[in-house]
Amino acid sequence: MAAGSGGVAIVGASLAGLNAAMTLRREGYEGPLTIVGEEPHRPYDRPPLSKEVLTGAWEPDRTFLPCDDDAIGARWLLGRRAVGLDVEARRLRLDDDSEESFPDGIVVATGAGPRLLPGPELAGVHVIRSLEDSVALAAALAAAPARVVVVGAGFIGGEVASACVSLGIPVSVVEAMPVPLAPVIGEELGAIVTEIHRRRGVDVRTGVGVRRLEGDAEGRVSKVHLDDGGAIVAEVVVVGIGVEPRTGWLADSGLDLGGGLVCDETGLAAPGIVGAGDVVARPSRRYGGVRRVEHWDNAVRQGQHAARRLLAGPEAAVEFDPVPWFWSDQHGLKLQLIGSARGAEEVRIVKGGLDDEFLLALYRRGDRLSAAFGIECGREVIASRRLIAKDATWEEATATYV
Ligand SMILES: Cc1cc2nc3c(=O)[nH]c(=O)nc-3n(C[C@H](O)[C@H](O)[C@H](O)COP(=O)(O)OP(=O)(O)OC[C@H]3O[C@@H](n4cnc5c(N)ncnc54)[C@H](O)[C@@H]3O)c2cc1C
Repeated sequence: MAAGSGGVAIVGASLAGLNAAMTLRREGYEGPLTIVGEEPHRPYDRPPLSKEVLTGAWEPDRTFLPCDDDAIGARWLLGRRAVGLDVEARRLRLDDDSEESFPDGIVVATGAGPRLLPGPELAGVHVIRSLEDSVALAAALAAAPARVVVVGAGFIGGEVASACVSLGIPVSVVEAMPVPLAPVIGEELGAIVTEIHRRRGVDVRTGVGVRRLEGDAEGRVSKVHLDDGGAIVAEVVVVGIGVEPRTGWLADSGLDLGGGLVCDETGLAAPGIVGAGDVVARPSRRYGGVRRVEHWDNAVRQGQHAARRLLAGPEAAVEFDPVPWFWSDQHGLKLQLIGSARGAEEVRIVKGGLDDEFLLALYRRGDRLSAAFGIECGREVIASRRLIAKDATWEEATATYV
């Protein structure tokens, strides 16, 4: 693409969208740039929303991402939602029924939204995706509730439980799977993370789902009823049962929306339409299949890649398939996962263990290192990333840590 005059639109004013915008300019795109964001805010960072903002360690304003207006030179349409896309015409429809074409391309970076529990809306039931969600939950925690129940023992649920412990609030976590996090880090490591929670006083209930939430006469949540007939009295409930890609607005576009906005290995959904961040489902040569990655690092890199993909045109398009990296902070410990542990045939803890509260676990798929999970093992996790990136054999990887 030439330096550009037709205009590019970025839909989704968050981490992936911001990185796409900065990269377009850095790589020389001079045409008009429009950023459409449903939220009223400039881009902010979500990881602190379930960590520092909840405990009060950070004022919410600290989450805003550095945003150099002069360098980006964009028209920001904030508090506005895209409601339709004509792929052929590269035309967006917004929630006020206005339409505009962007001949140089459109970046779809609309992220993901939290899954909710079925049933009537009750006060005191929270999710955490937006700044407002986090501020509301932080206020609820600051009121020192008698007990918080977290539904779902994923990474976000674990962080909320950790925030409760640090604030001295009794907390229960209810998880339908027998071992929390088993699909992500395997049963052995899932059990270790669960035990870390229990040792800090978190009441973790596993292998039991939530049947329904009960409200009081004022419409406030009062009890969580479980599948096994039990119930937990709760003043605050936090639902952390995963997210769904925000593709509803693309329903009539004709794009493939199976499991997210399906892009090819270079990030293209259709000519002139690229995707970035949590919304994208893409093939992975490294791990096989089509997958969606909900990690901060992926949103940054894929935002940058999407911009380059638009500028490069088909002949210069390159594959996007980095080694995934995710972190989570719980009970003062840094948990990190590099690669993908799904489908691992062997897991080996090569350093530390539960009682040390630091460890490094390696995952084997075939004769290759497929993933590494670390607790307080930053240097080793970075070293593992290099090993996975160069497709190291299991033998080489395990020998590294003897
Ligand atoms: C509470 C929390 C904690 C996290 N902690 C970690 C962590 O510790 N480590 C880690 O690696 N990752 C973490 N993540 C994940 C990480 O924050 C996400 O991967 C990242 O935010 C994805 O960025 P994104 O730009 O793709 O999507 P999002 O950040 O979801 O942004 C998408 C934006 O698009 C907007 N939008 C949606 N539809 C439309 C539309 N039709 N029109 C206009 N705008 C629209 C949305 O309102 C939103 O602002 C966390 C996420 C959350 C929610």
